[in-house]
Amino acid sequence: MAFKEECGVFGIFGHSEAANMTYLGLYALQHRGQEAVGIATSDGVRLQIHKAVGYVADNFDEATINRLAGMSAVGHVRYSTAGDSGIKNAQPILIDCAHGEIAICHNGNLVNAQELREMLVREGSIFQTTSDTEVLLHLYARSKAPTPEAALIEAVSQAQGAFSLVLLTKDRLIAVRDPHGFRPLTLGKLGDSYVVCSETCALDLIDAEWIRDIEPGEVFIVGPDGEKSIHPFAPARKAHCIFEHVYFSRPDSYVFGLSVNEVRTQLGRLLAREQPAPADVVVPVPDSGVCAATGYAEESGIPMQMGLIRNHYVGRTFIEPHQSIRHFGVRVKLNPVKSILRGRRVVLVDDSIVRGTTSRKIVKMVRNAGASEVHMRISCPPTISPCFYGVDTPKRAELIGATHSLEEIRKFIGADSIGYLSLEGTLSAVGSAKSSYCTSCYTGDYPVAFPQNEAAYLQLALKLVE
Ligand code: SF4
Repeated sequence: MAFKEECGVFGIFGHSEAANMTYLGLYALQHRGQEAVGIATSDGVRLQIHKAVGYVADNFDEATINRLAGMSAVGHVRYSTAGDSGIKNAQPILIDCAHGEIAICHNGNLVNAQELREMLVREGSIFQTTSDTEVLLHLYARSKAPTPEAALIEAVSQAQGAFSLVLLTKDRLIAVRDPHGFRPLTLGKLGDSYVVCSETCALDLIDAEWIRDIEPGEVFIVGPDGEKSIHPFAPARKAHCIFEHVYFSRPDSYVFGLSVNEVRTQLGRLLAREQPAPADVVVPVPDSGVCAATGYAEESGIPMQMGLIRNHYVGRTFIEPHQSIRHFGVRVKLNPVKSILRGRRVVLVDDSIVRGTTSRKIVKMVRNAGASEVHMRISCPPTISPCFYGVDTPKRAELIGATHSLEEIRKFIGADSIGYLSLEGTLSAVGSAKSSYCTSCYTGDYPVAFPQNEAAYLQLALKLVE
């Protein structure tokens, strides 16, 4: 639960309320990034843009939406995984170049961004942001290809790593998914309008119909001549991020063709089978642990109760009182229900332990509320390696799963017992599609090699703990 989300993207083509629909789509995708938000629209001639730091709902009012004229739009919610946070790196990034205006929204992380950037800077490019996404725009702008479409394909063909992109030109909406398909990207229709977005929950909110996923390696273009798909990349092994199912995506979404709720609940059932616990009550760590706890309770026969309550209205910053309150950061978000926990043996179900510090505070909180035993159960394997594909994980040296034995983790978090779901169990929850998943953060095996400087960084991280 302590991982930061990545980003959410949305695009719509051919709708009289394009900006408003994009605003709503981003609202549904807010869980994927809370640091910055932006929408760009096209009226067929010019592109317009509004970007801001913070939540979707706080940054768009009716006047702002009305200013964003046009029948097509793209939007982005950002959590910075590469590059600094703040307005400078907020997306969409809009540029004007020889191929015309273009706005780009990116979910993922390019593993060769640094190399490409150095090459571009040597050849005279001037960068305005530290985000890896801007690299793609420079490659696009300097392309000598005869059409904007060909220039874009030339640009994205040089990128390696994770990229689900939504782009807008004056008369086209373009969706691109990297050949491994790390991040989700899905296609829907709202009447005659086309919609592309990170998760189906954004389609649901605007009452759009789900059509299909944008395929790994597909470039989908819709414009004045209708729609078309191009597959410009060499075939590659699929590597859907399993963590989308474990944690990131909303349970009401379908991701990689599967119901997130179904997969997550199944993870909980399998966890109960693999890691039973002598307990009176199953308590999820809300919100992310709720589906897995439901499955755990179902399989084990132990009743589930909401013994921890999350405050959903916590803003980005708090004014802390001068007199210090212990564990304020966790307390302001979670509060124990003493009547549920007092005198009971509790199985706490969560989706991950990252550094261990939050889990430690939660276990303490549950004990202080009167629980007689606390058994921690995690619905995936220990996280032992960082992600280079768009998820903000700490260095390996900071991951408790990489640096501590199971018994040491148990002791550190102060639980009576601890149990993780195995990798086989985790993969079996996604069924027959399991060979098409990335599980690098659990295994340290990376489907796409990361570049030299990052490899050096990783080695350093490895050395620190060996
Ligand atoms: S390393 Fe982990 S978080 Fe990153 S893409 Fe792979 S499964 Fe997802």
